[in-house]
Amino acid sequence: MTQQNKELYQGKAKVVYSTDDPDVLLMHFKDDASAFNRKKLGTIVDKGRMNCTMSATLMRLMDGAGIPTHFIDQAGPTDMLVRRLEMFPVEVVIRNIVAGSLARRLAIPEGTPLSKPLCEFYYKSDELDDPLVLVDHIVEFGWATAEQTREMRMLALHINDVLKAFFEQVGLTLVDFKLEFGLYHGRILLGDELSPDGMRLWDKETGKKMDKDRFRLDLGGVEEAYQEVLKRVQTGAEGHE
Ligand code: 5GP
Repeated sequence: MTQQNKELYQGKAKVVYSTDDPDVLLMHFKDDASAFNRKKLGTIVDKGRMNCTMSATLMRLMDGAGIPTHFIDQAGPTDMLVRRLEMFPVEVVIRNIVAGSLARRLAIPEGTPLSKPLCEFYYKSDELDDPLVLVDHIVEFGWATAEQTREMRMLALHINDVLKAFFEQVGLTLVDFKLEFGLYHGRILLGDELSPDGMRLWDKETGKKMDKDRFRLDLGGVEEAYQEVLKRVQTGAEGHE
C-alpha cells in the first residue's frame, strides 16, 4: 500500500504529497475554487470528489485512446495516485470555439466557431498572470525544446479529438480547455487534471455554461452544473466499457 507522506505542494485546487515510492505522488482534490489568478476565491461544495472522479474517468479514457498520462489509480473519493512528473512551466490551451481570454483579447464575439482547433501556450507564472507566449519564447528561455513543444501540441490536439467526441455523445460542447504536461523518465505524459475547473463545456441543446465560468462570472448553480457534468461523464464512460 502506498502511504501518504510529506506535503510537497499546495496549489489552488489541489495538494500534492509524496509517497513511499519516489516515482508516485498522491494528489488530493480540494473544494477550494479560485479564479483570475486568486483574485476571486471561494468554495464549490463537493468539488474535490467530483473533479477527482471526473478526472480519473477522463484519464482512463485517455489511456484507452493511447495517450500517455500520469494517472495510476483513484485512491479514495478525493485522492488520486499519479506518476511523479517534472512539469514543463507551460499551459497548453486548445480552443474549438471563441470564449474567455481570446474573446476579450481580440474582441471576437464569444461563441464564434473556429475553422480548426487553435493551440496556444501560456507561461505558468502567478506574478505575470500566466502570459500568452510563442513557441520561440518557450525554446529561447529553455522551458521546453522545440521537439517537446511539438509533441505537446500533437498530444493536445489528439486529446481534443477524443474529448470532443466523448462530450458530444453526452450532449456537451467542448469549447476549450487547458492541459499541463511533464517528463517521466524522459517521456512526455499528460499531468494535472481533466475537469470543469480547466475546461469550458456548454450544454449542446441550451448553450448553458456547465463549468467554472459559473463561478468566475457569478452565474449561480455552480454545484448543480458540476454534478450534471459528472453524471454525464459517468454515463459516457459506461458506454465505453
Ligand atoms: P482562457 O484563456 O479563455 O481564460 O482559458 C481557456 C481555457 O483554459 C478555459 O477552459 C480555462 O478554464 C482554462 N484555463 C486557462 N488558464 C487556466 C488556469 O490557470 N487554471 C485552470 N484551472 N484552467 C485554466
